[in-house]
Order: sequence, then C-alpha cells, then structure tokens
Amino acid sequence: MTDEDKFVSYELIKVIKSFPIQREIKHCDSTFTTSPFDFYAVCPECKVRMKVWSFSGVAELEDAFDAVFEWVAHPKAKEHFEKRQKEIIEDTDKDSVS
Ligand SMILES: [Zn+2]
Repeated sequence: MTDEDKFVSYELIKVIKSFPIQREIKHCDSTFTTSPFDFYAVCPECKVRMKVWSFSGVAELEDAFDAVFEWVAHPKAKEHFEKRQKEIIEDTDKDSVS
C-alpha cells in the first residue's frame, strides 16, 4: 500500500453521507422499501422476488460499507465505535442548535 492509496476522496465521503437509509422499490403500482444493502426484495403484493441491486456504482460503495461493518464487528472495536459515534451525534446536535 502506497501513501496515496490511504487517501479517500471528498467525493466518496460526500456519497457515503448522502447514501440512502432505505431503498424505494416500485412494483404492482405501489412503493415499498428495503435495506439499501439487500440484493433482493420481495414485492408485498405479488410476492415476486427481484434483484434490486442494479446500478454499477453501488457495488464499490457497498464494499466500503461492508469494510466498515466488518471493522465494527471486531469485539475490541465496539467501544471505539460507540465513543466516536457519541461524539459525532453530540457534534451534530450542537450544529443544529446554533
Ligand atoms: Zn409486485
């Protein structure tokens, strides 16, 4: 790994921050939602199972999320993650108040 490989683009940070919390799927004239990490969804109306992971750019982004999830799953990472998440939430609260 070179030094350059360690840098993450601002574009990637922006894309992760705006990553949708849920995926909207239209089928049978209705809309339902799934996790953005689900590869397949089942329509609640007709029970058809469909592939919902469609556009190519998402693959790399999901890999990035998976890498973070994998890191967080480490037993020793839990306390670091929870401490940092608390700090981020507190910072966000401050931002919204001022
Ligand atoms: Zn359907």
